[in-house]
Amino acid sequence: MGKFLWALLLCVPVFAAKLTVAVTLQPYASIVQEIGGSDVDVVALVPPGADPHTFEPKPSSLKEFSKAVAYFSDGSGIDEAWLPRFTGVNKMVKVFALSNGIDWIEGGKHHHPEDRDLDPHLWTSPLQLQRVAHNVCEALASLDEPHADKYRARSAKLMQRLANQDLELRTTIEKLSPESRTFIVFHPAYGYFARDYGMTQLTVEVKGKEPKPRDVFDLIKTGKENHVGIVFVQPQFSKRSAATIAKELNAVILETDPLAFDYESNIRALIKAIQDNVKK
Ligand SMILES: [Zn+2]
Repeated sequence: MGKFLWALLLCVPVFAAKLTVAVTLQPYASIVQEIGGSDVDVVALVPPGADPHTFEPKPSSLKEFSKAVAYFSDGSGIDEAWLPRFTGVNKMVKVFALSNGIDWIEGGKHHHPEDRDLDPHLWTSPLQLQRVAHNVCEALASLDEPHADKYRARSAKLMQRLANQDLELRTTIEKLSPESRTFIVFHPAYGYFARDYGMTQLTVEVKGKEPKPRDVFDLIKTGKENHVGIVFVQPQFSKRSAATIAKELNAVILETDPLAFDYESNIRALIKAIQDNVKK
């Protein structure tokens, strides 16, 4: 075999190694998996159903993390409390922030003691998710240039779907009377959804805790004034006071998991519930 052919063979890897990328939460894992396709393995630090607010990394997820070449942080600071444990087992990991272009909700409204006062629940707004998807695509393309075109093609598909969903939300919510655009959730997970689509989110919990009777009373009053027909709860949190409030408002309780991998179905379920429960 001539020298030239050898040189050629050495330049072309026979087995392209998959890129292992870690992310914080399930909805982001879903985005990275879609854009990464078969070229990327995704590790989510917070497993399905776990509550990131009280999350303690298990040895198994630390082990998974040790395989990652890159970690995509959402940039909200939600991971600050436990990230050092992960980077402690993987000192070579490249850290990327997915927050380029994100229009953060700031201020003391959210309670996470570990964050820097930025509302971390970006994944309930298709508008913010388009920015996350763009950032994921750029990060993957820079990590793995030979596959950059594939990442861009998959990302374009996802961006189109998110844009459709964004439009669908706008047109659906436009049809709701202005008096029916308030909803109650236990935990304020839908702040971006509410702000970006002209809804109002009222929350049951107070600073991350069960409300006091006085808070429940006030929320029932506000709920009545705003014709709230639905109270959302999620599996990570208590349903006790939400049930009392729903009963008083003659509202239904709907359990959705905003932290699920399938964030799109969750957004659909949310909007359908709001539509179905508009009080005449
Ligand atoms: Zn939260």
